[in-house]
Amino acid sequence: MDVLTPEQRRKTMAAVKSRDTKPELTVRRLLHAAGYRFRLHRKDLPGKPDIVLPKFRTVVFVHGCFWHQHVSCKAAARPTSKQDYWQAKLDRNIERDIANQNKLLELGWKVLVLWECEIKSPDAILKRVEEVCSLV
Ligand SMILES: [Zn+2]
Repeated sequence: MDVLTPEQRRKTMAAVKSRDTKPELTVRRLLHAAGYRFRLHRKDLPGKPDIVLPKFRTVVFVHGCFWHQHVSCKAAARPTSKQDYWQAKLDRNIERDIANQNKLLELGWKVLVLWECEIKSPDAILKRVEEVCSLV
């Protein structure tokens, strides 16, 4: 159900940045500095993963806590207005993420999700990437 006026929709969509977000750039810079080579937003893969590490058959999603509903995260609190609209929209996002991740796993990719609120400690990010990449 969608009850937004065109003007509200325009504003909502303008606020959505699915590509080249700041947390994503931070992760890219980190990985690049650590010597990883990657591709971006490969359209031939489910969910167009933000970062693709072909050598390690690993994909990385850098997810915004609100849009992708980070569990138990303050930043994922659902709006108290237009609850039906937001519930439907955010539930759809979650379902889409799960479906895409399952497809990637079926295709033999390893999947790492980094949440926006976690993009603070470079060491922690690199450690998680290394862990996933080293999985066989
Ligand atoms: Zn979060």
